[in-house]
Amino acid sequence: MIIVGGGVIGMELGSVFARIGTKITVIEFLDSIIANMDSSLGKELQKSLQKLGFEFHLSHKVTRAENKGDSVTVTAEDKAGKQITIEGDYCLMSVGRKPYTEGLGLDKLNIKTDKAGRIEVDEFLQTSEGGIYAIGDVVVSDARTQSFRRRNLCSRTDNGTKPAYQLSHHS
Ligand SMILES: Cc1cc2nc3c(=O)[nH]c(=O)nc-3n(C[C@H](O)[C@H](O)[C@H](O)COP(=O)(O)OP(=O)(O)OC[C@H]3O[C@@H](n4cnc5c(N)ncnc54)[C@H](O)[C@@H]3O)c2cc1C
Repeated sequence: MIIVGGGVIGMELGSVFARIGTKITVIEFLDSIIANMDSSLGKELQKSLQKLGFEFHLSHKVTRAENKGDSVTVTAEDKAGKQITIEGDYCLMSVGRKPYTEGLGLDKLNIKTDKAGRIEVDEFLQTSEGGIYAIGDVVVSDARTQSFRRRNLCSRTDNGTKPAYQLSHHS
């Protein structure tokens, strides 16, 4: 199996398949896997996954993937433009998730989104349209702000100023 993208999800799923005997080849654009985490973690994880039989092509950009029915061929190039072609039974694309907010009519409700289509919310998860809340991957946030917001949501609930059921009732 060829995995395009060396992020957490690709590595998690790849390790599951590797443990049941699948040969995994990873193609990653950056020079390390799980690159949004501490670089030593990426190096150590790469060593463990190599012990499971993973093969890595870091600093390679996928330029083409061709479905040939029973197999797939993926072409990538390194920074110098040198091409590699890898053939596998399957290709797993794990190059990131994106919000699916098109066509929901958010603009008609004055709900603001960022350029990527993610919904903007305040620290209580309220959108720019009062009384409408948003939560989950669809909102503009990172792990730290999500955790901060969850704490705020709890403290707001605990001190009785706005019970949780009201928030979920509105959302
Ligand atoms: C492989 C994988 C592994 C992961 N592992 C972890 C992990 O270990 N720990 C962790 O914390 N997170 C993990 N995550 C991330 C986690 O799954 C997400 O953060 C979480 O699912 C987000 O929840 P959500 O409700 O916002 O969105 P989702 O779970 O994506 O749910 C959104 C739902 O809304 C539906 N939908 C979309 N548009 C519409 C519409 N217009 N009308 C009606 N329904 C609609 C979709 O079909 C979907 O069912 C993982 C994600 C993946 C893909």
